[in-house]
Amino acid sequence: MTTQRPRGFSTTAIHAGQEADESTGAVVTPIYQVSTFKQDGVGGLRGGYEYSRSANPTRAALEECLAALERGSRGFAFASGLAGQDCVVRSLVGPGDHLVVPTDAYGGTYRYVNRVARAHGVEHTVAPMADVAAVQAAIEPGRTKLVWVETPSNPLLGVADIAALAAVAHEAGALLVVDNTFATSYLQQPLALGADIVTHSTTKYAGGHSDVVGGAVVVAQEVGVAAYADAAERIAFHQNAIGAVSGPFDAWLVLRGLKTLAVRMERHCDNAERIVEFLSGHDAVSQVLYPGLAGHAGHEVAARQMRRFGGMVSFRLRRGEDAAVKACAAVSLWTLGESLGGVESLIEHPGRMTHASVVGTALEVPGDLIRLSVGIEDVEDLIDDLREALDIHG
Ligand SMILES: *Cc1c(COP(=O)(O)O)cnc(C)c1O
Repeated sequence: MTTQRPRGFSTTAIHAGQEADESTGAVVTPIYQVSTFKQDGVGGLRGGYEYSRSANPTRAALEECLAALERGSRGFAFASGLAGQDCVVRSLVGPGDHLVVPTDAYGGTYRYVNRVARAHGVEHTVAPMADVAAVQAAIEPGRTKLVWVETPSNPLLGVADIAALAAVAHEAGALLVVDNTFATSYLQQPLALGADIVTHSTTKYAGGHSDVVGGAVVVAQEVGVAAYADAAERIAFHQNAIGAVSGPFDAWLVLRGLKTLAVRMERHCDNAERIVEFLSGHDAVSQVLYPGLAGHAGHEVAARQMRRFGGMVSFRLRRGEDAAVKACAAVSLWTLGESLGGVESLIEHPGRMTHASVVGTALEVPGDLIRLSVGIEDVEDLIDDLREALDIHG
């Protein structure tokens, strides 16, 4: 029996690109830890495999799964999130072109745009993505090739209206790229909202266990600008020509992580909601930044375009930067560390850690800000530990 209903997210995560191995019946895609493939006569490739920079069966399984989860045409797996982003920029943008990037971009993304892309003649304008009119004003029709969005953003958890920004970008002949790392494909489907390209740091929720660094790029079934109809082919060419691909073992770890993404995200969201409630009632806290809060400026947009509001929570302390730095060091169950999206809870001070590279730029973040990546431990334990740290230092 077949039905018209598309398969659900978890079914796709567990099965897309992951048929049992043809030769052995292995239920899980094997780690093809191999560089080259025997040819059946010159040019006689088995299954198209020739050399693992160009294609590798473990990476191919992951790429098919990533594309299916974002409902795109093609997926690409990279050695890191930034490697994937670099490939997108180099595939689609050249000297003299222009990008619009968010005021609160991931620090490494902004560093790339500001110091790498710019050195190669690609200019940019920074715009607050929650303000569609400001983005429209920042776009230079004919010159702007990409509008780059993170929603929710890092570390301020700002929310951008993907559908509205896609319309504005397309009207000016630019593509909309959404970094979907924070929301994940489970909570948010940017391509269905009109975005053209999705990127991920699979280091984060997709991998989910803080044991791998990786990146993903997925291109829409149909991109919104005719001049870029071949975007997927261009990215495929550059992925091979530049070569920052995911290795087989890393690809396998991300593929394994994706299988439990939906259940992990539900728990990340459950725990985050409880922690937001706790922080909102704590005297030391001046502001809680979470798109699930009714008072959050992007709440309505987030409620429309996200399934739930995610596992990232930021908050500010009344007593300022010193208190924030001390509170980060006073926890014992929470791990003081960069990165996010793993099963274990992390705490950090963006101003001096993840976002130290943007100090002194338009992207500088407040010194009294603390960012939490809420893990999937028992939430009572997480709250007890935070309470202790805030009671002393908040
Ligand atoms: C971590 C991160 C990146 C960069 O990914 P890497 O895997 O560290 O290269 C990009 N965007 C966001 C939102 C991130 O959190």
